[in-house]
Amino acid sequence: MNKRRIFLTSALPYANGAIHLGHLVEYIQTDIWVRFQRMQGNEVHYCCADDTHGTAIMLRAEQEGITPERLIARVLEEHQRDFAGFHVEFDNYYSTHSPENRELSHEFYRRLDAAGMIERRSIEQYYDPVRDLFLPDRFIKGECPKCGARDQYGDACEVCGATYSPTDLKNPYSAVSGAKPVRKESEHFFFKLGKCTDFLKRWTRSLDTLQPEAANKLDEWFKAGLADWDISRDAPYFGFEIPGAPGKYFYVWLDAPIGYFASFKNLCAREKLDFAEFTDAVKSKDAGTEMIHFIGKDILYFHTLFWPAMLEKAGFRTPTYVYAHGFLTVNGEKMSKSRGTFITAESYLKQGLNPEWLRYYYAAKLGPTMGDIDLSFEDFVARVNSDLVGKYANIASRCAGFIQNRFEGKLSELHMGAERLRLKMQSNDHCWSLIGRLYADREYGKAVREIGRFLDEINQYIDEHKPWELAKVEVDSGKLHQVCTTALTLFWYTTVLLRPILPDTAEKARRFLNLTGDHMKWGQYNALPPGHVINRYEHLMTRVDPKQITTLIEASKESLQPAPIPHSQQRHAQHQEQTVETAASGAISIADFNKVDLRIARIVGAEHVEGADKLLKLTLDLGGGAKTVFAGIKSAYQPEQLVGRLTVVVANLAPRKMKFGVSEGMVLAASGDSPGLFLLSPDSGAQPGMKVK
Ligand SMILES: [Zn+2]
Repeated sequence: MNKRRIFLTSALPYANGAIHLGHLVEYIQTDIWVRFQRMQGNEVHYCCADDTHGTAIMLRAEQEGITPERLIARVLEEHQRDFAGFHVEFDNYYSTHSPENRELSHEFYRRLDAAGMIERRSIEQYYDPVRDLFLPDRFIKGECPKCGARDQYGDACEVCGATYSPTDLKNPYSAVSGAKPVRKESEHFFFKLGKCTDFLKRWTRSLDTLQPEAANKLDEWFKAGLADWDISRDAPYFGFEIPGAPGKYFYVWLDAPIGYFASFKNLCAREKLDFAEFTDAVKSKDAGTEMIHFIGKDILYFHTLFWPAMLEKAGFRTPTYVYAHGFLTVNGEKMSKSRGTFITAESYLKQGLNPEWLRYYYAAKLGPTMGDIDLSFEDFVARVNSDLVGKYANIASRCAGFIQNRFEGKLSELHMGAERLRLKMQSNDHCWSLIGRLYADREYGKAVREIGRFLDEINQYIDEHKPWELAKVEVDSGKLHQVCTTALTLFWYTTVLLRPILPDTAEKARRFLNLTGDHMKWGQYNALPPGHVINRYEHLMTRVDPKQITTLIEASKESLQPAPIPHSQQRHAQHQEQTVETAASGAISIADFNKVDLRIARIVGAEHVEGADKLLKLTLDLGGGAKTVFAGIKSAYQPEQLVGRLTVVVANLAPRKMKFGVSEGMVLAASGDSPGLFLLSPDSGAQPGMKVK
């Protein structure tokens, strides 16, 4: 088979925040794939960079009192440190604020302009008159036009979920200065995406380029029609100025994907690779090279519409594959600073947790789809301790001592009793090709399960032959030698199978078994020659102590302070247009909501309260017992109108002592600016006591 030649990327993390466990899903997913491909002998160039431009970076730097250049240089160092800490090994990790990227962005722009793909149009936008700044959607706040919730962003309401444009907000204000924004006209540059629809439809449906779910998503977008894309921003902006257009800058999302090329070009210069062979439309076809992007599903639009369209129209090659993954939840919920589940890479490592625990756990959870994955810490502890330590490392620790102490570290012939298992692990059909296919298809979870099956069989073999029993009887020492040799040989095969996921442990195991790099390649193996000397066993991996998790979560809890500038929460490369979960937004979690016990209640009694001009005393049947509730609904209802009807009550409200008696709950009613009060009632069929959620 021909060697594959691949230029491969992960999405560019934005340079205004730390790498966290949500980011790492993608980098670990990609890194495992890259390592596997290399073990196949394929040529892979894995490039990435910090995404450094945009209003958010500019304002963040200003807030810190430094230049954007200083900010992005510092963050670049932090990001590189964090990736290295998790064994994510890029061939080049660069910055979009680089000479190569400036030059390439100009080149793209020139070619697109020459092809008639750029149009200039005047548009009206919100402008901060105090800061002299056009405001991106995420920097305008106001009252939701639909539900009236305060402090909502310019593009969507986090309370009612409505989406709208910033000009629809009531009482808008600038999130930067607090000033009332004014509408101002300015000339913008547009990329004519609409003209690329036919090409994109063809590209989308070309063989295997996209996951089926992604292709379906694109169909929805095609049906809605592709709007032209605003690719310019006005000064002040941190980015690249558009050639021949002073004061106009490329929108950060234009030069971010070009940053993949820039990082690769930088690598090509260093390693004497032919850049055009991987990026030019014609030359890449002749050379049979591939270009593959690993991304999160939130940036599908940019990578499957804008980016291929730009590439095509500028005469570059289009992506061979775009692989999108889902989001990370922690313990079933969105990562949260208040719950301590917004965990940075740095904090994880600082608490002394092994990065390969996380690599293994993510691998066990990852598949080829865009489905979300959950990091459940209980499951994390259980899996790492039972699989990695209990099943995998244990094989070596159970057998190495006998070889070392009884046989001077020398291996023997293999034990024939394990021949079936050994042949199965050597055989291409049962092991290498099956698990290899799973890795190649990004079916890591299935690969881990298959490897786990071999681990079980090896442990079973050891349990059957009980080296610790054999060791007690002198006459059995030949068999003891063979059984331990065999178990360690099978341990070696398993190590190679796990190597894309556990590069560091595999390296330790290689040293312990005294093997060469050639022994660590993917494929079929024979026995090591009898007499091969292994080194003294040292612990390959320790167990997770659940206390470490508690400490990690405590260390990750932050007091919630309103963030003056939105920063990305769940994902990378979000720039300024994404949601943050902060106290300022007023959002609560499902867990918070679940604390409220809402029940259907039948009003079985209603009466006036002597001396109260707003209250009615209600007796409610909640299916079990009765509750007394004082409700301020006298202005809208007569007691006799209420008896017999159903409503919704907060059943777990702490009883409140009032002047007229104790109120044991609260009935729900709607009211607004106009007069009127409206008691809630369920659709017919609901019964007293039913939970409302
Ligand atoms: Zn709303």
